[in-house]
Parts: sequence; C-alpha cells; structure tokens
Amino acid sequence: MANGAGNHYGFELPEELIMLRDQIRRFMREEVKPIEDTLPHDATGCAPADLARLRGLAEAMGLTRLTVPEEHGGNQLSALARAIVAEESAKCRLGGYAPALGAFGGGPPNILWSGTPTQIERYAKPCIDGAKRAFVAITEPTGGSDPRNNISTRAERRGDAWVLNGRKMWITAAKGADFGVVFARTKDGGGGAPPEITAFIVEPGFPGIEFNEIKVIRALSPYEIVLDNCEVPAENVLGEVGRGFGVAQAWLVDARIPYAAGCIGIAQEALDMACGWVKQRPTRDGMLADKQAVQWMIADSEVELRAARMLVYDAASKVDAGQPGKVDASVCKLYGTETAGRVVDRAMQMFGGMGMAKEMPLERWYRELRVKRIGEGPSEVHRMVIARDKLNRTDGGHYFG
Ligand SMILES: Cc1cc2nc3c(=O)[nH]c(=O)nc-3n(C[C@H](O)[C@H](O)[C@H](O)COP(=O)(O)OP(=O)(O)OC[C@H]3O[C@@H](n4cnc5c(N)ncnc54)[C@H](O)[C@@H]3O)c2cc1C
Repeated sequence: MANGAGNHYGFELPEELIMLRDQIRRFMREEVKPIEDTLPHDATGCAPADLARLRGLAEAMGLTRLTVPEEHGGNQLSALARAIVAEESAKCRLGGYAPALGAFGGGPPNILWSGTPTQIERYAKPCIDGAKRAFVAITEPTGGSDPRNNISTRAERRGDAWVLNGRKMWITAAKGADFGVVFARTKDGGGGAPPEITAFIVEPGFPGIEFNEIKVIRALSPYEIVLDNCEVPAENVLGEVGRGFGVAQAWLVDARIPYAAGCIGIAQEALDMACGWVKQRPTRDGMLADKQAVQWMIADSEVELRAARMLVYDAASKVDAGQPGKVDASVCKLYGTETAGRVVDRAMQMFGGMGMAKEMPLERWYRELRVKRIGEGPSEVHRMVIARDKLNRTDGGHYFG
C-alpha cells in the first residue's frame, strides 16, 4: 500500500487517532482477512464461532461499543474517530455493510438511546454485545426521499396499544432481527403543518406483521414489511408521540459521515489493489503501470479520494466542535458515495476481465456502492439540501437532509 504510514494526507490527525487507525488496519489484515478469504463471495457474515473470536479480540483492544454513549457502558468516540473506524473497517470483502464482519459490535440504532430506561435495558443494551439485532423502517412504497410526507403507515391508539397499518419497503435485514424501529403517522398535517410521525419499537412476534424478501443488486437483502392491524404496546412508543421524525433526522444526519467514510475505505482498497495489479501485469511494451491511460485513472482516483476524505474529516471536525453539520454531512454523503463508485469502476477497468470475476471483491463492491447512492437519501436529495442552503431557501419538503 503506497499510503500506508504516517499522516500522509496533510490533515493533522491527532496522534491517538493515527494509532487507532493503525490498530484497525492491523486487525483487518491479521484477523479479518484470513477469515474472509474462506467465505463465499456473496456472504453477508462469517461463522458464529469466528465472529465470537473476532468480537473477543476487538473487545480486548477497546474497539467495541464505539457508538454507545458512556452513560450506557459504551466507549463513544468523536465523529472524526468514528469516521476513521468506518473507513478502515470497510476495507474488507464484505465492505461497508459489515464492518470487520460485525466484530466491532455496538450496533443498536442510535435512536434507541432516546428511549425509556426500560426500553434501553430491553432493546438497546443486548445489541451492544450482539445478542440482539434491529432494523429501522422509514421508507414506504409511496417514496423514501421525502419521508415525512410519504409515510402513510398509520398508528391509531386503541386502549393500551397502538394499532399499525401500512407497508414498509426496502428495510435492510428486517427478517431475523429481534425488533425494529418503525415510523408511522399518528396525525395528519394540514394548514401548512406537516404530518406527525411517531417511532415505535416493534417485535416480529407481535400479531399482524409479515416480512417479504426483496432481492436486490447487493448481497444483503432488504424486506417489505406488511403491518396488518399490528398491535404495539403503548410502552413501545420511542420518544414522544408525534416527535419521531425529529429524532430520526438528527440521528440519520449524524450517520452520514461514517457512511461516506466507509465508501471511501472500500474505494481506497480497490485503488490499492489496482495499483498492485498494474505494476505486475505485462503488456507488449512494458507494464500496465507504464501506460499513461492507466496512470491517469490512478491519479484521478487518488485526487478524488483525498478530496472525499478531507470533506469527511472537515464535517466530522465541525460536528465534534459542536457546529451544525447537516449540510456538511450531505456534502460528504454525496461526494463520498459518488467518488467511491467512480474509483471502484476504474479499478475494475484496470483489472480487465479479472475485475469482473466473482472471486475478486471488486464486482461486489461495485454493486454495493451503487446502492449507497440511493440509501440514506439519494444523491439528488443531498444536492437539493446543499443548493437550498446556498440559496437560503427553506421551502420544500421534509427531506432527510
Ligand atoms: C438495498 C436498500 C436498502 C435500504 N434499506 C433501508 C432501511 O433499512 N430502512 C429504510 O427506511 N429504508 C431503506 N432503504 C430505502 C432508501 O432509503 C430509499 O430507497 C431512498 O430513500 C429513496 O426512496 P425511494 O426508493 O422511495 O425513491 P423515490 O423517493 O421515489 O425517489 C426516486 C428517485 O427520484 C429522485 N428524486 C427523489 N426526490 C427528488 C427531488 N426532490 N429532487 C430531485 N430528484 C429526486 C432520486 O433520483 C431518487 O433516487 C433501502 C433501499 C435500498 C435500495
């Protein structure tokens, strides 16, 4: 790897973050890589015994619970540190959807920390050590880009329960999860006011819930969730009735920075692999690495990745300094995901036929990164958020920006 050591990007990372980054690089190289080399190309995780061992190692190195607040027994890192963890841990075949094959744990949806003490004990804490897994269901067939207006799943209060009716779409890994946070409309808008949205903790064992797999371009399937008079106990309202959207929005905005960082990690790995390949691939008159056409693909990729990484560091530093990071997070998400897609595409080009082979991780990353331009808000929505900020516009919908 050409860029293996030191603080080579010019951004003054604090010494402890350089150490964290190097520690994760070592963990990925020495512990994760040997396991993932044995996995089928479209695996979405590793064997439970391997995962338990990786978790134990990560725990011993202090690399777990990184998104869990200290008051809940976690080791919550700064936004900048989380971006670095996301970038380094995505440098594996499973890519951004399974950082270090799940070894880093600490994965309750952060919105759960706004729950009651009972909800936190019952739902959030078991996620930290991997005993429970959750999904988050916002998007519906009516559209995901403007969820506040598009959520038409209804929740009606009946005695001690809320009754949910509607359909959710594209919900990642919903089947097999122990519970999910489902957003539903509890009051229509009107007179210029938006509809009120409430978050509910829903278990798959509740009556009136059904999951249907949707096969998509990437390995990890999302699901349709059908809620047919699904009864949710009143104590499973997460946060306040009618305030679900605000909590979700703050959390999703925060998640965009590591989301972009993970994409950059995948693309950096692809570029480094391509650089290794072109140096050893002979042509009639020299190596592929001697060709200007190839060098330009490498140079463009390196420049774009450095720029994307700087945007991530900048946004994370602003968030850590307590400044509003909403537009910066959209900038990162837009540029990070689009850059990563371009870089992996160029890496595949440099590998030629080998770039198409399932035994290489490239085609998998390519498919995964395609989703990243849609998930967590499509590129167009983030462009709109950035443009509206530049133009001082406050009109329009209630996008996750
Ligand atoms: C594999 C996968 C996993 C997912 N996982 C989850 C999950 O776990 N939980 C969850 O809640 N959702 C999930 N989603 C849903 C995802 O967040 C939505 O697909 C996304 O927000 C876009 O919503 P939509 O598909 O309804 O597209 P639409 O809102 O119908 O938009 C379609 C396209 O129109 C364009 N567009 C939309 N609005 C505008 C605008 N205002 N201006 C210009 N162009 C616009 C964009 O190009 C957009 O891609 C997942 C999606 C996929 C594909």
